[in-house]
Amino acid sequence: MPVTDFATLALAPALLSTLQELNYQQMTPIQQQSLPAILAGKDVIAQAQTGSGKTAAFALGMLSALQVKRFRIQGLVLCPTRELAEQVAKELRTLGRSIHNIKVLTLCGGVPSKHQILSLEHGAHFIVGTPGRVLDHLQQQRLDLSELRMLVLDEADRMLDMGFLDEVARIAAAMPAKRQTLLFSATYPDKIEQLAASLMQQPVRVSVSSSQQESSITQQFYALDNSTREQAVMLVLQQLQPASCVVFCNTKRVTQQLADALQQQGFSAKALHGDLEQKDRDQTLLQFANKSARILVATDVAARGLDISELDLVINAELAHDTDTHTHRIGRTGRAGAKGLAVTLADNKDDYKLSLLQDTLSDAIQLQPLPPLSLLEQAPAKAEMVTLQIQGGKKQKLRPGDIVGALTRDQQIAFEDVGKIQLHDLWAYVAVKRSAAKKALQILNHDKMKGLNFRAWQL
Ligand code: AMP
Repeated sequence: MPVTDFATLALAPALLSTLQELNYQQMTPIQQQSLPAILAGKDVIAQAQTGSGKTAAFALGMLSALQVKRFRIQGLVLCPTRELAEQVAKELRTLGRSIHNIKVLTLCGGVPSKHQILSLEHGAHFIVGTPGRVLDHLQQQRLDLSELRMLVLDEADRMLDMGFLDEVARIAAAMPAKRQTLLFSATYPDKIEQLAASLMQQPVRVSVSSSQQESSITQQFYALDNSTREQAVMLVLQQLQPASCVVFCNTKRVTQQLADALQQQGFSAKALHGDLEQKDRDQTLLQFANKSARILVATDVAARGLDISELDLVINAELAHDTDTHTHRIGRTGRAGAKGLAVTLADNKDDYKLSLLQDTLSDAIQLQPLPPLSLLEQAPAKAEMVTLQIQGGKKQKLRPGDIVGALTRDQQIAFEDVGKIQLHDLWAYVAVKRSAAKKALQILNHDKMKGLNFRAWQL
């Protein structure tokens, strides 16, 4: 039996058959290195990125230790974002589907607490959540962690970046000291070491070399030569035609300038940085997520809140100041096992940064010439969808079904042409296919919903 076979581990037969059904044939490198220690009950620090199979590594640990008949919270996974928490909960449920009556509950910020409170009253075995909301429930005494046996910190570096250190420490203080703690992080700054020292006992450390981790992300490097950065970004976009792409810049000023330049040339681009008002940032993120904008030009800080899993391209318009930041940027593509592409533009001032980056890569960095200028003669692709804003929301008792219902009544608009809907208290956003936008606006402005007339316009 190869050492990468899951059957070499002390896993319950039911778990092994689930793995087989899911076609997880061999352990990934991070699973191979961490699972023996995890299953032996040790504290583990694992340096691993999204796409490495890290979720299954800790999920199998949690499921193996679970005593399903003891209906108490036995495991807690803390994640930086809701998107990640939901992915983790999904994987825990999938891998644990052979265990009867297993209950996994997500507790994330950004959604109302009401349902969470109800679910908590019914109890759970595992909680997956974001630190702020978990702490909130804990402080309101809705969450009892006194019988917890396993704590997992997922993407710990991102949690620290987002300022969750204090929350994590306070949550950990509410659980037994005698427990198993697992920490997963893509990068390994000093702060992680300090966090580990305060929460873990004699942790086993495992890491997978970057070349193994990045296998699902292809990196390409282009030399700027005599081209401007703006032109170079346009050439790459025209050549690769991504449906969803984030372009990273190092400063707010360059971010805004590049977004402006792209818009002027007809690209479906939006800027995201800290100088924009919260409302504008929210609308930008919404339009990017519902496919009304193809390109998001962002600073590293602003992109932290980005919860989008299907990015087919990341462009580094400017090379990041350090290797960790670069790793984070490119980790946004190629998620969840999908193939991703990261393109980095470099000029001759970047030699030193490139040499540092080279140390972390197995393949030699080769600077390619930019795609041909003739690509700029074609008009850039428009976004697939447009976003319509409706002046009415939860306060008017509007629900997504009312909006879809109005739009698709008498087949005026096909059901498939209606995209994501987001409801706020006083307004709503609906994405529709570009070709259906005019008709949709007519309907929303003239037909009644819930017996009321609303105003609607295109963002
Ligand atoms: P993660 O790094 O946890 O985000 O996982 C990346 C993807 O790989 C997920 O979609 C998992 O379902 C999948 N995966 C995890 N472990 C394995 C494995 N041993 N074999 C095949 N796929 C896996």
